[in-house]
Amino acid sequence: MVDFARSHTGALDSEASAAAPLDLPERFDEVIEDLHVVRLPMVTRFRGITEREVVLFSGTAGWAEFSPFVEYGTEEASRWLRASLEFSGLIPRPTALAEAASSTDSVRGSAPAAEANGETVAVNGTLPACPPDQVESILSRYGRVGTVKAKVAEHGFASLDEDLARLREFRKLFPDTTLRLDANAGYTPSEAIEACEAFADFGLQYFEQPVPEVEQLADLREELARRGLPIVIAADESIRKAEDPLRVAELGAAEVIIVKVQPLGGIGAALDVIGASGLPAVVSSALESSVGLAAGAELAARLPRTDRSLDILGDRVACGLGTGRLFTADVVAEDEALTPVDGAIPVTRIVPDPDRLEQLAVDPGRFEWWAERLQNCWSAVRDLKVRG
Ligand SMILES: [Mg+2]
Repeated sequence: MVDFARSHTGALDSEASAAAPLDLPERFDEVIEDLHVVRLPMVTRFRGITEREVVLFSGTAGWAEFSPFVEYGTEEASRWLRASLEFSGLIPRPTALAEAASSTDSVRGSAPAAEANGETVAVNGTLPACPPDQVESILSRYGRVGTVKAKVAEHGFASLDEDLARLREFRKLFPDTTLRLDANAGYTPSEAIEACEAFADFGLQYFEQPVPEVEQLADLREELARRGLPIVIAADESIRKAEDPLRVAELGAAEVIIVKVQPLGGIGAALDVIGASGLPAVVSSALESSVGLAAGAELAARLPRTDRSLDILGDRVACGLGTGRLFTADVVAEDEALTPVDGAIPVTRIVPDPDRLEQLAVDPGRFEWWAERLQNCWSAVRDLKVRG
């Protein structure tokens, strides 16, 4: 491994800012010598896919994952690469804004350094659309969890009665567990109002993306206020790139943002944009292996603890990083994988197991496809078309 961060861009903790040109060579393989592309089978179809291909490589700071969904174009995928290069230590982190944000009066103190031994972040359990009599057995798999996210609107508004029956059963079994809902943009604006009326009595922490568009979220919040329905709206699908949180904040479209490390261009960029938006954030995964989840856990541990965040999300914010359970295989042994135990995962770096990298490796044709994609994204990052 070439000590690239020092020989080309200065030490990892250098003063280099996001705006400084990145002094990268033309070809990624001049820097990344140990590239792996693996295929992770999924337990069930999710987001329309049954397996996930991810690229893994290591740098001076450790292993990182590059796993933009295959349909994404170079520009979008390049932000994911920027995140991976940063997490591996091959390029420095932009953190100026994040540091400024954590020194404001509204912050009661930042999370301890992520490297701290034994640190964990809380993770929510997930309740999928299921018959009420399966609620208990599905959630029992998570062990003790303080927060559950229930999926609603699987078939849009037509699911409402089933959703209500499931939530009633949930509340009967777990009266004190924090409950979030996620509609994955499944309602029209008028359906969302009706659904909110129906869900208001369940004591929600927040309701994730009831409607697709940012403007619709903003209108929904106005209507909820007019009706005196105190439901906190969170934006997830509306946050896909670094400028989105600012737009959500500007339009008053949500009180909470769901953030993912790779789409936002890295931990540093995510902290910057979260700070700039002033909105409480919940970290979620982009369906990653344990290597990618580790970056999410570090961001979750570093989130600023503002008054608004404490009011809405409490002092131990449950993140959406329990997605390791969606895969039948991972790049590390089960006891080292970042799958939640009793509602928490450790904040740690993951080193993939060489045997598993070999077993899960894609065929040479897919490897070449990914190497070419990586090179295209590398060139975009290098040309500064992609900022964090
Ligand atoms: Mg969501």
